[in-house]
Amino acid sequence: MIYDVAIIGAGPAGLLCARNAARRGLSVALIDSHEDPGVKLAVAGGGKGNITNRILAENRYVGEDTSILRSALKAFSCDDALELMRELGLPWEERDFGQIFGLKPASFMAERLALQCDDAGVDFFLGHSAKNVTPPDAEGSESGPAFGRSGPKKHFTLFSGQEKVTARQIVIAAGSPACPQLGANDQLLRLAASWGHETIPFRPVLVPLVMPENWPLSGLEGISLNVRLGLKGSTGLTWPDPEGIRSLLFTHRGVSGPAVLVASCWWKPGMELVIDFLPELPMLDLLGEKESGKLIVRNLLARRLPARLADTLCPEDLARRKVAELGKKDRLRLADIVHRFTALPAGTEGLRRAEAAAGGIALSALTRRLESRHVPGLYFCGEIVDITGLLGGYNIHWAFASGAMVAKGLKKGE
Ligand SMILES: Cc1cc2nc3c(=O)[nH]c(=O)nc-3n(C[C@H](O)[C@H](O)[C@H](O)COP(=O)(O)OP(=O)(O)OC[C@H]3O[C@@H](n4cnc5c(N)ncnc54)[C@H](O)[C@@H]3O)c2cc1C
Repeated sequence: MIYDVAIIGAGPAGLLCARNAARRGLSVALIDSHEDPGVKLAVAGGGKGNITNRILAENRYVGEDTSILRSALKAFSCDDALELMRELGLPWEERDFGQIFGLKPASFMAERLALQCDDAGVDFFLGHSAKNVTPPDAEGSESGPAFGRSGPKKHFTLFSGQEKVTARQIVIAAGSPACPQLGANDQLLRLAASWGHETIPFRPVLVPLVMPENWPLSGLEGISLNVRLGLKGSTGLTWPDPEGIRSLLFTHRGVSGPAVLVASCWWKPGMELVIDFLPELPMLDLLGEKESGKLIVRNLLARRLPARLADTLCPEDLARRKVAELGKKDRLRLADIVHRFTALPAGTEGLRRAEAAAGGIALSALTRRLESRHVPGLYFCGEIVDITGLLGGYNIHWAFASGAMVAKGLKKGE
């Protein structure tokens, strides 16, 4: 049998792509190394799945070229994702920052999507990695001349275990190497690179940051508070998170929490982390308030910040002084400590703790329909493409949006 399309990867991108293509009447093979489709989807959002977001915009994503999102997010909007959830029988709730969570385990969504694929006639090849994936010979396009004894190879082929799968088109929806303990890897990105595609090396994002052992705020693990995070690199200081304020958690090894996971999307080795501990209250205004004057500096800080953090932040020479007695220089020094606390992370917690990996197939290697510019009939969708969302359901949304986009562009054989 020659399939119209073989899709490698039964995550949200591959599942939706397979279902939609099969509903259009294409014959579809869906290949995954796991026995169960949607393994990463099942653990998303702590098992609940933050599926999409009300605030979908290009600035919620990172990548070398994110311009494709302008059309992709129009073609598959938040309402489309909610419609999909309705169709799957998955109720949802909206939480802060526009986040939409499913009200059943995220594994439910994976199971229902797989069932819909089954109903639409998708053939599953599960439990084996796709091996020996080969494209048609360059001369082997349907209209190309025959040559040699057996003629050119006209189709894509691959092996799932002992089974050979032959298809006119291939979609690579193999995700990223984030969470290798779930079997994630970058083999198919390396294969695509060997076929001439421009690729951006994967790096862990949505990941806690590790601080040096002796950093000034060590020993505060367990404390969590709302902050604004900046990053300082060779081009200066930026405050990249479009949401501004989110919570930070001190851990044994450094910092985590939504603010840090989001900042990790832009963080690169050598960049300093800048923490604004009182993002909504200018320290200089606080110091200038009449009621503050009679307090000692340490107590003033402890009224606004967790006590242990206030103790650690407050310089010893100012801690016991009355606020009213502080001169301009000391006031500026305190404001700087509270609003511009700067530290150099030692690194990230790595791919094992990352919810995603930035990088992947460069958009320059793909058409606006996510077809390869180098190998006709080869498509990419989902996290393997160099588009990575911030925290908030953006990655699953991109997986669905790009999977739906590719399904529309696939051609049915004669
Ligand atoms: C712990 C965790 C929590 C997360 N929470 C959220 C969240 O709440 N919201 C959100 O938006 N995002 C979340 N994400 C990210 C999100 O899960 C991914 O971005 C999304 O699943 C990517 O979808 P995908 O279809 O592109 O790839 P994947 O879901 O990774 O699916 C790729 C599939 O390809 C298969 N595969 C790979 N190589 C081969 C091969 N050679 N042969 C056969 N099969 C292969 C894999 O087995 C896998 O099933 C989370 C990620 C993690 C790790």
